Amino acid sequence: MIVSPGATIGIIGGGQLGRMLTQAAHKLGYRVCILTPEENSPAGQIADETIIAAYKREDALDELAEKCGVITYEFENVPVHAARYLARDHLVRPNPEALRVSQNRLDEKSFLNRNGVPTTIFAAINQLDDLNGQGVIMGMPCVLKTQRGGYDGKGQVIVRDAKELVPGWVELMRQPSILESFVPFTHELSIICARGLNGSMAFYPLAENDHQNHILHTSTVPADVNDMMTMRAQDMARKIAEGLDYVGVLAVELFETEDGSLLVNEIAPRVHNSGHWSIEASQTSQFENHIRAICGLPLGPTTLKHKAVMTNLIGDDIHQSDDIAARDNTFVHDYGKEEARPGRKMGHFTTLLD
Ligand code: AMP
Repeated sequence: MIVSPGATIGIIGGGQLGRMLTQAAHKLGYRVCILTPEENSPAGQIADETIIAAYKREDALDELAEKCGVITYEFENVPVHAARYLARDHLVRPNPEALRVSQNRLDEKSFLNRNGVPTTIFAAINQLDDLNGQGVIMGMPCVLKTQRGGYDGKGQVIVRDAKELVPGWVELMRQPSILESFVPFTHELSIICARGLNGSMAFYPLAENDHQNHILHTSTVPADVNDMMTMRAQDMARKIAEGLDYVGVLAVELFETEDGSLLVNEIAPRVHNSGHWSIEASQTSQFENHIRAICGLPLGPTTLKHKAVMTNLIGDDIHQSDDIAARDNTFVHDYGKEEARPGRKMGHFTTLLD
């Protein structure tokens, strides 16, 4: 079903991704209602309406559903049962299955392999016994990650010797985990794609991503990859999107290895930090294409208008934003967050390179 401009779009989550989705929705003529537990959230500041409530509250979900023609989300840890509750009688795009798969690293990697998408080798660690022999099977080093809840490097430990397996798991509080072999990657890349209601797909060029302290620092487009690599990444993104019967924008994070192979690290069922450059550098931004997809409108072209670098403004970096905004070909986005805590994404800027 198509949701026409004038209707209200519901967004679960009030962060910066919701804010930039709201800007894109307004440009296309939609109203936006945000559901978030946070007062004065980045998205709530500019949305037409905000429902301030816990994500699980059925009365709040009912209110959101009543106001909105379609409901989407801006972060992957939305409670799956809340999305399923809404999806019984309302349009929820992407469907809640995409949330379920991406919330658990074991489900996610199993889903990827089942759909013919390569990842590093991994094993489920649910109890102490599961660690037996893994030093030999996996080889060293490897990475132990909690199945749920980790982000920006939290909830994971690098294990360099089999003797560190048990202490590593204890450090993760013996939570259900996944052990992965360490990928000696040469680059971290991502591909963002949009899948429309009719199954049509649009791909953004691959971005090369640099992290500092486990947090994305810069994304550069286009990444320095050949056509074959781009085609392989697109093929993987297509398999994932089709496997999930996905509608909306999807991000796929990749490792490129020395021998030129590509492995998927993780997927995000939403617009993604490594695609923020698309606001100024692409014909259609990832935010606009997400809104177009979930409303059943045709996808916009993803042609790159300029090469670009996006840099995150983390914590106190935001205080330099006036100076940065004075630079040529540079566009600053301030997310409107009050407190510049260390490690907090406060804004970003994109520099167009040609
Ligand atoms: P993740 O939380 O899975 O996105 O991991 C955060 C970062 O840790 C990634 O961006 C990589 O830099 C690094 N990392 C995660 N898993 C692996 C792995 N299996 N091998 C090497 N590096 C990894």
